[in-house]
Amino acid sequence: MRFKKRKTIHLYTSRVKSKPHCPQCNKLLDAATGISPHAYPTPDPGSFSVCAECGAFLVYTDDLQLRLATAGELRQIESDPQWAELFKFAAQASLTWRGRK
Ligand SMILES: [Zn+2]
Repeated sequence: MRFKKRKTIHLYTSRVKSKPHCPQCNKLLDAATGISPHAYPTPDPGSFSVCAECGAFLVYTDDLQLRLATAGELRQIESDPQWAELFKFAAQASLTWRGRK
């Protein structure tokens, strides 16, 4: 019998004081739930994000506003199995959250 290796993924919700808006749907995204293999993930410049309202793939800028991820950045996520798994999880969580409205 084969057992799956257990993995720990941390979820941590924090306020984003810069009060960014989604560039795709314009929703105020002043809270973020970080998903990471590391404890207490918070958004930093360059962090990837998924809009909880519309599901857009986003990136935090130097002043912690949000912009759409570029095609190159999306390919970067898809080519790294760990990132791809985290984003699959985030996209599913976003869908579940949107389904509650
Ligand atoms: Zn959005």
